[in-house]
Amino acid sequence: MGASDFQAVIGLEVHGQLLTESKIFCGCSTRFGAAPNANTCPVCLGMPGSLPVLNAKVVEFAVRAGVALGCRINERSIWSRKNYFYPDLPKGYQISQYDLPLCEHGALVIDVDGVEKRIGIRRIHLEEDAGKNIHDAGGGESLVDLNRAGVPLTEIVSEPDLRSSEEAGEYLKALRDVLVYLGVNDGNLEEGSFRCDANVSVMRRGATEFGTRAELKNINSFRFVRQAIDYEIARQVALLESGGKVLQQTRLWDPSRGETRSMRSKEEAHDYRYFPEPDLPPLLVPEGMVERERTELPELPREKLQRFQADFSLSAYDARILVADRALADFFEAVWKHYGGSAKKLANWFTGELQRLLNEEGAGLGTLKFPPQHFAELLKLVDAAEVSANAAKDVFAEMFRTGQPPRSIVDARGLGLEKDTTAVEVVVDAVLAANPEEVAKYRAGKKQVLGFLVGQVLKGMKGKGNPAQVNALLKARLGE
Ligand code: ADP
Ligand code: MG
Ligand code: ZN
Repeated sequence: MGASDFQAVIGLEVHGQLLTESKIFCGCSTRFGAAPNANTCPVCLGMPGSLPVLNAKVVEFAVRAGVALGCRINERSIWSRKNYFYPDLPKGYQISQYDLPLCEHGALVIDVDGVEKRIGIRRIHLEEDAGKNIHDAGGGESLVDLNRAGVPLTEIVSEPDLRSSEEAGEYLKALRDVLVYLGVNDGNLEEGSFRCDANVSVMRRGATEFGTRAELKNINSFRFVRQAIDYEIARQVALLESGGKVLQQTRLWDPSRGETRSMRSKEEAHDYRYFPEPDLPPLLVPEGMVERERTELPELPREKLQRFQADFSLSAYDARILVADRALADFFEAVWKHYGGSAKKLANWFTGELQRLLNEEGAGLGTLKFPPQHFAELLKLVDAAEVSANAAKDVFAEMFRTGQPPRSIVDARGLGLEKDTTAVEVVVDAVLAANPEEVAKYRAGKKQVLGFLVGQVLKGMKGKGNPAQVNALLKARLGE
């Protein structure tokens, strides 16, 4: 038997920080990078006698995510206490949802080798984040920063529908894109505002029951998700092949060694003693919220991608670049509305010059100094052969720097193509007179020489020549 005799089964649990200004049960700021413990109050410090009050925005964001992921939204759900001891959890429990979560039974469609696959979403619930223990502060002491304690999280739990590390990676990307599009999460794996635990098991092909799973923690990049899962699949297959048994464990991914190792097994598993939170009433979704979120749902990345390919006849590659960022896609459509020429040409400007300048400046679209109309005007000038494609790049760079309209830049810098035929003819005649041998070759049937002559004329016109016009004039002069 070999690895191909086994089938991997994977389910992901994703924690996403909801982008609210304040925490889930108090008014403290959620801002990243504040001095340790600056963003705290008696509620998130877990002082006796303090009481939590739910942040309404958190519910709105989670309902939005639930609606976008096709979930049933429970009008009434329950808060529970998840009890455990750890220094970053001063209350001794985390307020979460257990028996009855806010959202259930959704799905996310992903592409697997060009085929659509529906991945079930079991539940989405709300909970508060814990603080952070800092062990490397020096002096041999461990410190606790509670700025994160009480930051709102959604936990999105998939069904065990994923069958390979590639599928898991696709699912995670698609999920991140949706949440970022909705404006409820910033999708940052490295900074921990989008976190993923992977449940992995293997079973012999044809088996009807899933194998025992391990839960992998500490996966903080898309590359690590695939690496950790592949490592774990190989480990479990080898174990089974040598007659061993997979233990239900929580395992930690170690990126420096490229392996997972046991953190705790089922025997030492936490008994969280969940029970209903007595300090909070059941979570009742405000009337009309689900309906409103449903009506106001933006177009999601997947639909947008398909529409960009269909409506603009763009390649999957171009469409993917444009759609990856909702603001970029919106800007593309805005420019397009004023332009109306070739969408492929416009896409080339977006993936070429625009991206290049934004990258160079390390700037976002929000800082652009020119409106979409000006971008469209520049392309029209090129289409009408009023500026050369090369000069247009200079014009664009200046628009980017100064916000001046393209027309004024072209005029001010004299970048317009020569429209006056007589002026072009003067240069054409001079080039013909200076190159009698080439002219003779052309007349003798060596038509390739024309390219050389066109080049000479354009050079003589210092970038102001219109290649098509020069071509036509030369041919006319040479007697065609
Ligand atoms: P728990 O409540 O212990 O976290 P759940 O049954 O809710 O366990 O499942 C948690 C995650 O594990 C879900 O994403 C689910 O899809 C996944 N999962 C469950 N069983 C398996 C299995 N046998 N192999 C892989 N993943 C699994
Ligand atoms: Mg779990
Ligand atoms: Zn607080």
